[in-house]
Amino acid sequence: MALTLYNTLSREKEAFTPLKAGKVGMYTCGPTVYNYAHIGNLRSYVFADVLRRVLTYNGLEVTQVMNITDVGHLTSDADEGEDKMEKGAAREGKTVWEIATFYTEAFNSDIHKLNIMEPSTWCKATDHIQEQIDQVKALEAKGVTYTTEDGVYFDTSKLDDYGTLARLKIDDLQEGARVDIGEKKNKTDFALWKFSPKDEKRAMEWDSPWGTGFPGWHIECSAMSSKYLGEQFDIHTGGIDHIPVHHCNEIAQAETAFGKKPWVKYWLHGEFLVMDKEKMAKSGENFLTLAVLEEKGYHPLDYRYLCLTAHYRQQLSFSWESMDTAKHSRERLMNIVSDLRDEEEGSKGDTKKYEQEFLDAVDDDLNVPQALAVLWNALRDKELGKKEKLALTEKFDSVLGLGLLEQEKLDIPQDVIDLAEKREQARKAKDFALSDKLRDEIKAKGYQVDDQKDGYKIKKL
Ligand code: AMP
Ligand code: ZN
Repeated sequence: MALTLYNTLSREKEAFTPLKAGKVGMYTCGPTVYNYAHIGNLRSYVFADVLRRVLTYNGLEVTQVMNITDVGHLTSDADEGEDKMEKGAAREGKTVWEIATFYTEAFNSDIHKLNIMEPSTWCKATDHIQEQIDQVKALEAKGVTYTTEDGVYFDTSKLDDYGTLARLKIDDLQEGARVDIGEKKNKTDFALWKFSPKDEKRAMEWDSPWGTGFPGWHIECSAMSSKYLGEQFDIHTGGIDHIPVHHCNEIAQAETAFGKKPWVKYWLHGEFLVMDKEKMAKSGENFLTLAVLEEKGYHPLDYRYLCLTAHYRQQLSFSWESMDTAKHSRERLMNIVSDLRDEEEGSKGDTKKYEQEFLDAVDDDLNVPQALAVLWNALRDKELGKKEKLALTEKFDSVLGLGLLEQEKLDIPQDVIDLAEKREQARKAKDFALSDKLRDEIKAKGYQVDDQKDGYKIKKL
């Protein structure tokens, strides 16, 4: 079976064939850096990371580009409301630039903790103002723009296929457009360039052929992705909330500016993380960050494990019980794997069956819950030797990204490490009474020390 991926464009699973043999260009809509990412946002990036790892597992060379939105994103995705960055700056009494730097670093730290591979290229919207202006100029030259009091807009009625990705029914939308759309000609029209208010200097503004202001949110993604991946590329990812507005607008911009269709061959979208049946949102009550999980005693990779237990196209309902289960399973997995390093044991059994099952699972539109089950089955298989299990774990973990061969990922507390160290000294000094007493103290803290040929190993009980 070859790799198949569910393409939002066709609403079907399709065989994956890259535009250039052996290579994949992939763009991931990145964070808006006005606040910490919540764990729902982070689920989206775990999904994109797994996708990238599965492509690599299939022998493809992946170039992944991710943007940082540090300008232009208003509180409504449809170009209304306050600027999210300015809102963040006002909330914290900092400049928008400070806010952007701070939350970009926080995001980097989060994804690092979750073993999310860094994209090949990061691109910040504010570093690419000229590219965005150039794309708006190209759209103007194609005759699809108009200017209002507050900005330059894309006239979506000029396209006969606007909104195809979202299967938008434009006529129905227009019917519902009795709500105020200001000077916009159509409800679905969107800002390409917004003017600064007349008597006000904004913290983030630039000159343009149309007047001083800032780019609309959608133009950054079509301008920057094409700069780094070309005018057509293979995969674009994001959360499902991007389908009806942001991604339809990106397609309108890119396909009109470049005159090539389809701009992107495969569109993949991750479902939401929900809590108490509601979508986790930065503006909502149920805003949980990775730091909160860590404060409560979870390892960031417990959360990654939780994400891997649900298919990316299914909603994942967050609960503390499911976090506990994920934590327990991951720790058990780490312990099992740490016991596999046994130099003495010879080879036993064949890994091919498991390799095939794992590949079939991940190649079936990233069925990672199934792939995880294959790993568990292999580890439980009595016919398989430790060496074989270790080799399989290493291979499968290149997709799962759980750091299963890195003992430090168990996050053993310092006091337990200190006790184990003392015990080791006592043992060397042949003070077995003290050594046993320390072993009990360690046990009381929920850990176990096992003596090894060249030292000791600490495990969680
Ligand atoms: P933002 O930083 O708000 O631009 O969002 C970053 C990413 O998180 C986008 O791809 C969103 O689609 C995604 N996202 C937002 N809310 C959730 C959620 N509750 N669960 C999963 N992904 C989400
Ligand atoms: Zn985007």
